Amino acid sequence: MKILVVGSGVAGICLAHELLQADCEVQLIDNGKNVSSAVAAGIINPIVFRRMTLSWRVSEFIPFAYKKYREMELKTGTSFLHPLVIRRLFASEQELGFWKKKQDLPEYSDYMETLTEEDLNFPLEQNTFGTARVKQASYVDAKGFIQANREYFRSKGLLSEENFNHDELDPENGIYKGTKYDYIIFAEGKDSNYNPLFGYLPIQQTKGEVLTIQSETMYSAESLNRKCFLLPLGNNTFKVGSTYVWDTDNTIPTEEGFQTITENLKSISKEPYEVLEHHAGVRPTVLDRRPLLGIHPKYPKLVIANGLGAKGYMLAPLLMNELVRHVLHGEEIAKDSHINRFEHLMDS
Ligand SMILES: Cc1cc2nc3c(=O)[nH]c(=O)nc-3n(C[C@H](O)[C@H](O)[C@H](O)COP(=O)(O)OP(=O)(O)OC[C@H]3O[C@@H](n4cnc5c(N)ncnc54)[C@H](O)[C@@H]3O)c2cc1C
Repeated sequence: MKILVVGSGVAGICLAHELLQADCEVQLIDNGKNVSSAVAAGIINPIVFRRMTLSWRVSEFIPFAYKKYREMELKTGTSFLHPLVIRRLFASEQELGFWKKKQDLPEYSDYMETLTEEDLNFPLEQNTFGTARVKQASYVDAKGFIQANREYFRSKGLLSEENFNHDELDPENGIYKGTKYDYIIFAEGKDSNYNPLFGYLPIQQTKGEVLTIQSETMYSAESLNRKCFLLPLGNNTFKVGSTYVWDTDNTIPTEEGFQTITENLKSISKEPYEVLEHHAGVRPTVLDRRPLLGIHPKYPKLVIANGLGAKGYMLAPLLMNELVRHVLHGEEIAKDSHINRFEHLMDS
């Protein structure tokens, strides 16, 4: 099978690895414009803190992602997956109550440490309601991941660094610029909205900003979280973020984003720091917070892999495996992830 993958963010990269493993002939194409996968913090967090619930299908996504990222580390000869302890500083008595109620339930105890006196009295000025530790969290060094994987595909001659021009696609026959493909898979992130054939799908463009800071004195043994995350990267540097602004497709860092992040950071740490970098990206989100996977209802050679929202690094390895099994072997895609839930929008 000869397959063209449009986009080399985390979705396109995971797809390309899966397709190579399935003995397909793969070509990736990326215009290098959108920086969502490269600016992400890459945090894999099983807990949704608002109500202390488990993230969607977490028991499937986390082990699969670990296994696949380790395989990619071996292939690319780099290290980008790092274990992490996330420490939530409770924002209210209610949050503390939710944690206490859930920490010993069988499905939660794999991801929540049972509260100890040390957690409750964690010695930080900002600790008002106690703290708790998340198990099985990790982070992918997103910039390193993207660079290493693009270099891997580039060195094999499998990455074309140019724009995919939709005007040159023959969708009926899967022909792009004179080359015929069995499938063309679009993993364009937020730019899917400008794809003339998949643009009917309701992808929201959710901008997010993030800072890289340096501090000699900030707590760096764990990743602290309240209102924002503070992710220690080593060498006294940290990522801190992020922000959520809906329906914006530009990736320009703003003063407003900067103010929001620095203000939120005060709820975790008042230690002095210096800002080293400020970046913005746009998440491809869907209102129902589920991905968009599947074969185009009218053009069977065209496929979409999108809608990874705010959790691309946790979701992409397994979802891209499921999509490849669907395309190559006709296996079912879960109803809540399939694009046919939006078929009614196609001609509207
Ligand atoms: C500030 C911020 C923080 C985040 N933090 C986390 C986090 O901690 N953990 C987590 O899991 N997720 C996080 N995310 C979300 C994560 O970044 C996304 O879920 C993920 O990057 C989406 O990946 P993607 O491959 O679908 O899209 P993208 O990364 O946007 O990749 C799409 C690629 O397609 C290319 N492309 C598009 N159109 C064309 C075309 N016509 N021709 C050629 N190339 C094209 C683009 O240039 C781009 O490289 C964060 C996002 C932001 C913005």
